[in-house]
Amino acid sequence: MTAELVPMPAPPRDLLRVARFFPFEEGGRRLMFVVDNAAFCALDEASWRLAQHLIGQERARRSELLALLDDLPPAEAEEAVLGFEQLEILLPHDFPLYSRDQVPVTVEPLSTLVLHVSHDCNMRCGYCYADYGRYGGDYGYMTPEQAVAHTERFFDQLGSGRTVQMTFFGGEPLMNMPVVYAAHAYAKERAAREGRVIGFGLTTNGTLLTRELVEFFEQERFALTLSIDGPPDVNDRLRPIQDGSKSYDVIIQRVKESGVQANARVTLTRKCLDVPRIVRHLVDVGFREVGVSPVASGHARFDLDDDDLQVLLRGVTELADDFVAWAKEGKIFPFSNIRTVVEQIASGDPRAMPCGAATRLVAADNKGGLYACHRLVGQEEFRMGSLEEGVDPERRFQLLKRIQPRDRAPCQTCWARYLCGGGCHHIAWLHSDKDATAPWTISDGFCDFLRGWYRLGLHTYARLLEEAPGALEVLLKKRSPSACSQPQGQ
Ligand code: SF4
Ligand code: SF4
Repeated sequence: MTAELVPMPAPPRDLLRVARFFPFEEGGRRLMFVVDNAAFCALDEASWRLAQHLIGQERARRSELLALLDDLPPAEAEEAVLGFEQLEILLPHDFPLYSRDQVPVTVEPLSTLVLHVSHDCNMRCGYCYADYGRYGGDYGYMTPEQAVAHTERFFDQLGSGRTVQMTFFGGEPLMNMPVVYAAHAYAKERAAREGRVIGFGLTTNGTLLTRELVEFFEQERFALTLSIDGPPDVNDRLRPIQDGSKSYDVIIQRVKESGVQANARVTLTRKCLDVPRIVRHLVDVGFREVGVSPVASGHARFDLDDDDLQVLLRGVTELADDFVAWAKEGKIFPFSNIRTVVEQIASGDPRAMPCGAATRLVAADNKGGLYACHRLVGQEEFRMGSLEEGVDPERRFQLLKRIQPRDRAPCQTCWARYLCGGGCHHIAWLHSDKDATAPWTISDGFCDFLRGWYRLGLHTYARLLEEAPGALEVLLKKRSPSACSQPQGQ
């Protein structure tokens, strides 16, 4: 008779499942991000050794991990292992395998309406994704009746949500102020009647601003975003006025004469990637906050290639140093990209989707169409309904199923999955050559940039916690999440 050798079963608590995590070193710090629950922490020597041992493993034994740390006092080794259990990196081996991606796509109540009041613009920026305001169609304007009807329909579909945001967009919305006034008056009255809190925003190129307009915006507490690309040599290269003249001096004169307090929004093209110079210049000019975003025009002469994106990352890293230096002096450096990512990390909320497009945001145009977001207006694949019928729940649900990132192979294995949420749908669609079929996928080079971006955010957050905790606290009190993950909602 031959005896079979059967492995002894492990004691139940000994065998553990290892969840996904990302340990990394940055600026002399050892940091770790937990993929599924967005937890984040700094690691001491023992935890770092544990992380290095566990990386790439699906199962581990507690006893083996303690043996790995047997040069430490037993209490310290226990504490290190316990830390990984508390972070939910080490779980009982029979713990149900949970992934956020198994949760069905749900349709949240709407909260944000973007009204495209003008499909026309008095500027002719070379890289304009909106085709100078036409969005692939003709020049045109929304009528006051259309704007009020869109707003009414939007309120009808709000449900019980208490907070509402309404943004006026174009083209150039200041070319159609009667419509802004009409929609604003209706929305303000309706929100008051229904006990909702409403915020207004408007994105402008600044060339038509007047003191009178600014007084109205101030009185009605509009958040204004002004598009400008930097100092004159940068801005005037690609942002001419319609007659071909330069725009920088006009914008700055209007800003100064009207006294507007606005956030500057910079579109970065490969023609100039000196982000530190651009941002510092606009901060010096006095903009309340400055945000940058790489252009998404679909044209190789403007869009950043993989090398350009790395240059951009290095520039933003330099500005993150400014951010920390200002924080150490108790001040907030008004660079919104860093502020936003730090706020996001501090919130600890894993992000299943990248933004509010189709989940809570809807954009309305002057032809009665409703779309997933302001950048996707006019694109049939992203249409969600009409002025007559409002948002069609079935169409919206089908769109959400198409744009959610869980079916995209690169996102399934990406450590930044729940920070990034799958990236801007507009960029993914462009990177997929506007293929009619989803899932649209962001290019590898752009994903490397996004991961570098979140890594920088994690490191900056760790630095602030350590070097300027007071400023971090002030920063987080001001938290104001936007429906769009592109800076200032463009
Ligand atoms: S960085 Fe790229 S792969 Fe990772 S979640 Fe974002 S879009 Fe997906
Ligand atoms: S990130 Fe902004 S621009 Fe991109 S799809 Fe979302 S809402 Fe639209």
